Amino acid sequence: MTALMTQAPPRVGFVSLGCPKALTDSELILTQLSAEGYETSKTFEGADLVIVNTCGFIDDAVKESLDTIGEALAANGKVIVTGCLGSKAVDGSADTSGGTTDQNLVRKMHPSVLAVTGPHATQEVMDAVHLHLPKRHDPFIDLTPSFGIKLTPKHYAYLKISEGCNHRCTFCIIPSMRGDLVSRPIGDVLKEAEALFEGGVKELLVISQDTSAYGVDVKYRTGFFEGRPVKTRMLDLVAELGQLAKPYGAWVRLHYVYPYPSVDAVVPLMAEGLVLPYLDVPLQHSHPDVLKRMKRPASGERNLERLAAWRAACPEIVIRSTFIAGFPGETEEEFEHLLDFMREAKIDRAGCFAYSDVTGAEANKLEGMLPIALREERRARFMAVAEEVSSTKLQSRIGATMQILIDSAPALGKKGGIGRSYADAPEIDGVVKLLPPEKISKQLKVGEFTRARVVGVDGHDLVAAPI
Ligand code: SF4
Repeated sequence: MTALMTQAPPRVGFVSLGCPKALTDSELILTQLSAEGYETSKTFEGADLVIVNTCGFIDDAVKESLDTIGEALAANGKVIVTGCLGSKAVDGSADTSGGTTDQNLVRKMHPSVLAVTGPHATQEVMDAVHLHLPKRHDPFIDLTPSFGIKLTPKHYAYLKISEGCNHRCTFCIIPSMRGDLVSRPIGDVLKEAEALFEGGVKELLVISQDTSAYGVDVKYRTGFFEGRPVKTRMLDLVAELGQLAKPYGAWVRLHYVYPYPSVDAVVPLMAEGLVLPYLDVPLQHSHPDVLKRMKRPASGERNLERLAAWRAACPEIVIRSTFIAGFPGETEEEFEHLLDFMREAKIDRAGCFAYSDVTGAEANKLEGMLPIALREERRARFMAVAEEVSSTKLQSRIGATMQILIDSAPALGKKGGIGRSYADAPEIDGVVKLLPPEKISKQLKVGEFTRARVVGVDGHDLVAAPI
């Protein structure tokens, strides 16, 4: 028995590829591994088994995932694959074999992998781990922090509120890989949020494929949190999260919100300061015909009017969005409509992709495919306008005092640090470059807030002096 207890713990190598949604899957698996006494290895060679959480969204991501699986197989030999790519068939459609036949893309390319699962399959992954690397028996290793193991820095965390999507945008294969919308029970979501705040999280990033649709699948069913009835609905969720965050002085940031009329009711909560006045609204285009060809949600909405109304209700609101330039059939006139929209809507933070085919997506079959050079040229023209808008907005912040969440501060900020304001989501927006504090006694600490006076602009970033 004693020999069993002193055995080295089994070690698992873990690679997490893909989007923030995949990251939360990785966190769930790592939390479970840790709870069961598995340790992680930083190298493939030092592990007893490797798990690769893959992404299958665009062709580059598929290649990166397949290459990583190949490297892990070469270096270690025992590999379990999970994530979006795991549910993809060779022809780009959804794999119905559950990763067991060579109809499955991963299985076909790498027949020696031990198991293949799709996304959000913690239990299946754990079953495969148990089969190929049994856990050590130890009654003391059940202890794991209630907020789980997070791959993001301790002071911010992603909160996934639903899986899948009811839309069928023609350029996207997520619904075929992840299925229709399934909202998590509101009680579970709020419990997780509370545990994250308890665990020191200062910024909660709400994610899903379509945050505004939260609860549609369960007809906004009433759930329970701490004995109280709460509706499974975006407005109720946001209000509850804001209340939970308050005692911790923490931020709540909303991603992937579509411009539906129902969102209008959320904006006053931003004006009140309950949640950050920041909305990530993936608009993709402005011209109604292009939006129709894209089969975008809320394509019939009057987005300019809606954005103006949101700004009237909450003047400090920051809008982030992504766009696609050069979608099949996009005429010069349709593209200029997009440029005019951008100038008028004054999207604070805009990203733009030149359209590119995604294996298995319906848009590949649309007529009027544009030459790649033209798509790239339009992307560059769009970005020139976007940068003008963003730079004017950033310049207007000079002289303002803002609250900054500190992401990095070597030597307690003696040489300055890096932080973000409410206008900057981690990893996708700019940052605030903090100068060394003037007051000798002032320290900057990662995961804490500081007030800072904006003194300049540096590209997409602000420069600010801590006060
Ligand atoms: S809303 Fe459209 S782009 Fe977003 S996940 Fe659903 S189908 Fe894909």
